[in-house]
Amino acid sequence: MSSIIASGTTLSPPGRGSAGSRRRLCRVFACAVVSASLAVTALIRPPRASSADGANRLFGSMTFTKTTTGISLRGHAYVANKAFCGIYVQLFLDDAYPNKGAKETALIPAYPAQFAKTWTAGSHFSYGEHTITAVALNPYDASRTVIGKSARFSFNDPKYKWGKVTSFSVTDPGWVRWSGWAPAGMRVQYLIDGRVKETLGALSRPRQFERTWILGRSFAAGAHVFQIRAVERSGKTHVLYTSKRMSFSRASQAVAAAVYRLPGHGKVAGKDMVAHATTSGAQGTTNLMNCQVWINVPRSAGVLDDVVRHEYMHVLQCRLYQGQIKAMEADAGPSPNPSVRSLDFIADAGVRLLGGKYTYYLAVARAGKAPTCRERRQAANLLNGHKMRFQGALAKHNVAWC
Ligand SMILES: [Zn+2]
Repeated sequence: MSSIIASGTTLSPPGRGSAGSRRRLCRVFACAVVSASLAVTALIRPPRASSADGANRLFGSMTFTKTTTGISLRGHAYVANKAFCGIYVQLFLDDAYPNKGAKETALIPAYPAQFAKTWTAGSHFSYGEHTITAVALNPYDASRTVIGKSARFSFNDPKYKWGKVTSFSVTDPGWVRWSGWAPAGMRVQYLIDGRVKETLGALSRPRQFERTWILGRSFAAGAHVFQIRAVERSGKTHVLYTSKRMSFSRASQAVAAAVYRLPGHGKVAGKDMVAHATTSGAQGTTNLMNCQVWINVPRSAGVLDDVVRHEYMHVLQCRLYQGQIKAMEADAGPSPNPSVRSLDFIADAGVRLLGGKYTYYLAVARAGKAPTCRERRQAANLLNGHKMRFQGALAKHNVAWC
């Protein structure tokens, strides 16, 4: 591999030798470059020329033109080191550059340097709004230079002329979520049981929309049908999505409200805590393998918020250890009372830190005494997003060192 590249230094510079022989050599050369992975080529030093003298600098430009069916990309790229006759052009969709993979990587000869390509909407990229970034990549030292960035352009799928609801989901304890896309000029309306509940202003350009409705806040317990529709300027409506009829119980509403009252709800903490209302079992139960919670609403009467707080602490344990129960138990440490796991004392310590009073395990196994300093520290770790054995600085929920 390296010997082939070295032979490249004998190539005639542009303007000398015949174009035909130069092209032929380049083809051999290009094949050699193509056959090597980027990782390998990145390790191979360029012949003689060093980046310091600018010989390996990349140049180029790319223009992007919208067509009726897609986007046409035209441009060129080359490297100052004339010994190279092949470099890569990488095309990145949206904000993929520089941290994610290229949508397409093409080798183009440095002399001549033309590049032309057409991407088709619905095949090379999804309908909606996009930008493309073109980057020249030196295969020898992996250096990269942006040679063009497109304006934001948009394409409507003719099938979804009025927009599209791309996802609609309902999760306990009563989250209704959806997202979608609508073309410019449309208003988007959200309806519940046939009545308009919210209307988005006319969209100045095609754009995504998303919304979350919460049981007890956006709508009350009962059976409901949700609908999303687009409205033209003329007032003509087009239904984008109609849900099936769904029932939400009062118990679910109570749990949803308690979950909503958790700290950081809608931001980090309580968001996505899946809590089902039930009428059997303990006051609260958390599956430490999948972080799902069941709240026995009748049995939690009067102390619902604290039961939810306790299970919420288990959800944090579950999330931070991701099913590694042994590691979780090890970090929690031995329980001072063998009839109750340390995990439960720590969860009760968390209830106290969150302003709650009802702590079942402290009440029955420790005669209502306060949690230990260690347990409070462990609970604070969880609330701050750390595992229970973490010993660094704490942010929001500060507990003195024990
Ligand atoms: Zn528990």
